Amino acid sequence: MKKITALMLSSAMMLSLAACGGSASTDTASSEAASSEAASSEAVSTEEAASADAAELTTVTAGKLTMSTNAAFPPYEMTTDSGDFEGIDVEVAGAIAEKLGLELQVDDMDFDAALLAAQNGKSDIVMAGVTVTDERQKVMDFSDTYAEGIQSIIVPEDSDIASADDLTGKAIGTQRGTTGYIYCTDDFGEDNVIAYDDGLTAVQALNNGQVDAVVIDNAPAKSFVEANPGLKILDTAYAQEDYAIGVAKGNTALLDAINSALEEL
Ligand code: GLN
Repeated sequence: MKKITALMLSSAMMLSLAACGGSASTDTASSEAASSEAASSEAVSTEEAASADAAELTTVTAGKLTMSTNAAFPPYEMTTDSGDFEGIDVEVAGAIAEKLGLELQVDDMDFDAALLAAQNGKSDIVMAGVTVTDERQKVMDFSDTYAEGIQSIIVPEDSDIASADDLTGKAIGTQRGTTGYIYCTDDFGEDNVIAYDDGLTAVQALNNGQVDAVVIDNAPAKSFVEANPGLKILDTAYAQEDYAIGVAKGNTALLDAINSALEEL
């Protein structure tokens, strides 16, 4: 459980950082400032600030905000029957794109590829319920956080696994490249953790008895369990996390524009 404490600490730090960043970048005119001519000329609305940011932005494809994602992560990103993309991340990205005067382009791929695309400048942003971690911060930059996630444990209803400690020696299904995979291999050893292409495949493996448990983010866990009678989510969380938007390291102009837009939203 030390992991939970460490993550909670880091998220508390990030929240306070986010608070500082927010007030610095998007101050609007206060009545005091408005009384001084010099100050009022600096006081732009956040909308004006966002479109000014957009004018300076260079994106992967001109006029577009390209988002890499893994659209199998309900309710954050899903693929509809007609092949469109929907979900919380898609909506937030769409609103950010609109604020920046750009058209949203969603590129669907495996989760680890979605992270790499943003790191390597193949996409402008990765939004995929991406958890902020120290390791990822070494290779990409993150926006202010916009949601909280929990790593949950899914087991069959009659399982003898009642807490994270009971996972020792069990076969654990995860999604490749996710924090669920990283934490489980750290805590229970690589031999006990199987990485699947996506969460749904991991849950199918649990249904087929190929693994004893699946560790995955709480929001998709709920929808997978709803759709698969006979499975349940343990009450105890395995880890607590913060989601943010990832961009290539050093792309400060885009990051500032995203944070201004996020704050306004
Ligand atoms: N939040 C997890 C991570 O960032 C999983 C995200 C996902 O599967 N889309 O690793």
